[in-house]
Amino acid sequence: VLSEPRAWTKLTSNHISLPFEDGRERIRSLLLPDRADPNPTLLVLLHEAAHHWTFLSAVGSTLAALELRARRAVYSYSQSNPLSRVLDPRAVDDLVCFEVATELLRPLGEGLALFAEFDSVPGGSSVISRPIEWVERLFPDRSVQDLSTRIRRTLLKVRAMEASRWRRENVLAQPLHCSEGGYLPGYLMTKKSWHSLWLRSLDQSRLFDDSDFFLTYMRSFFFDDLGFVSLLLDPATDRYTALERLSTYLNDRIVLFFRHDAESLVREFERRVSTPTANFWPPMNLSTDPVLFDFGRDRLEQTTREMVQQIAQGPENAGLFADLHAGVLAHRALLELIRVPARVKVTSQGHVEADVDGRPLYADMSVEGATEGEGLGSIEVLLSGIDGTRVCAVHLESRLVSWRTAPHVADANAQRLLFGDLYNRDVREHEADRWMRLRHRLDGTEEIAAARAELPTVVDRIYLNKALLFVPDERLDEVVQAMAQSGFLGLLGETDLVRGLALLGLFVTFGLPIDKAANLFSSQGLDLDATLNAATRLHDSIGVPAFAVDGYYRCFV
Ligand SMILES: [Zn+2]
Repeated sequence: VLSEPRAWTKLTSNHISLPFEDGRERIRSLLLPDRADPNPTLLVLLHEAAHHWTFLSAVGSTLAALELRARRAVYSYSQSNPLSRVLDPRAVDDLVCFEVATELLRPLGEGLALFAEFDSVPGGSSVISRPIEWVERLFPDRSVQDLSTRIRRTLLKVRAMEASRWRRENVLAQPLHCSEGGYLPGYLMTKKSWHSLWLRSLDQSRLFDDSDFFLTYMRSFFFDDLGFVSLLLDPATDRYTALERLSTYLNDRIVLFFRHDAESLVREFERRVSTPTANFWPPMNLSTDPVLFDFGRDRLEQTTREMVQQIAQGPENAGLFADLHAGVLAHRALLELIRVPARVKVTSQGHVEADVDGRPLYADMSVEGATEGEGLGSIEVLLSGIDGTRVCAVHLESRLVSWRTAPHVADANAQRLLFGDLYNRDVREHEADRWMRLRHRLDGTEEIAAARAELPTVVDRIYLNKALLFVPDERLDEVVQAMAQSGFLGLLGETDLVRGLALLGLFVTFGLPIDKAANLFSSQGLDLDATLNAATRLHDSIGVPAFAVDGYYRCFV
């Protein structure tokens, strides 16, 4: 278990849950960012923000569209005359496709999120990944002018905390098989591919020295891949073929990523994403077959158009859900950072005040039409994944009564998109419950059961040999067995060695000078030499590299 209580991000709604124990303290610091002090919470936030960013992509939006399309069909079915109703057969195809793709991508998504959490540091390129940029906005270190120095300092401060090493050591000791959440295989696969791309770029641009640039590139390579989108929306990808087609495509794509040697493409990508006015649609084609890429773009545009049309004219009985789905789509870009219970008062003059534990935290105008009243509600802080706007919203019971943004959003359309009348939490949660119940009934469907039964083997086949890329074939079974239950702990046998490896990895992306490393290790009660010996042992047997070069340590674990 990575953290208790668990944080999570849902793909379709892109809704994040961050169960901060010290929620009340956090909301104060989020509202008053000048006083915020980075703490290990920031790593949890980076992890979930990376999921949010990943899901806010061409592939993420396509998957959300597939699931919402299935929901609509199932609702219409459940509300029509029981004697004459027929379920749109596409609903089962959509659901199988959604579930298969989600499971296939899970280790990859976890790999990216863990990389954002532990490895990402802006460096030589001018690109800063979105999660890092968002976190910087929340915890700005005002004592430093230069943005990238500021970010490095904040990240270094947080990753140096013992709690961060504990989180990383926990990941290294996770089970190897993908059915256990996919953390370790996904993370190892991500680090291995970083190692491959780093090696290839050494005598060229060295762009992959910059781990945060690598993260940005890898996310786009897989999640903005319109080739995968094309396949997801292809009518030929149905309940019978989804597993075979999607898994083959993803496997080939990962293999391509490892072998990928496209210096000019990488430079062009850097130029495009570092332009502030970058046009994000269509995403850049990173080595996808151009015909498939165009198909993907057209199919996604058409699916989006269909959904918008359905929402606009929704059949009477689906009207409510049509609204909700518009809401889900609009709010996919909003990242909810925190929500705490508050005592809320709306006055007859249209003022709203909110107190947390008797301390006033919020006072502003009410939204139009908010009725006078007083009672329990909540304050929440959200971040727009599109432009980083920070939003503070106050609910009385479950009605939105007031909000403000920083910077101020004056444009009425942008305001409507952020809130409008779609922002109704009660209805949203009611709908989610209802969907879960209806969804359950479809679980008995033979094709869904068949796909589920085969998935774990297929997912392992895709990820395990890439995660253990440098293990010689004749040792593969032995290594898989040793790592099956508890990852590197099974391989190294000693908790302190896993700890050391976890610590080493946290610092190498900042450039860990050889002469400083020993102090760092002893400050956390660990032995650098023992860790390096263990790393050499790993290198000799399974090819996990940790080494010193140009006066710095490098480690790809
Ligand atoms: Zn995760």
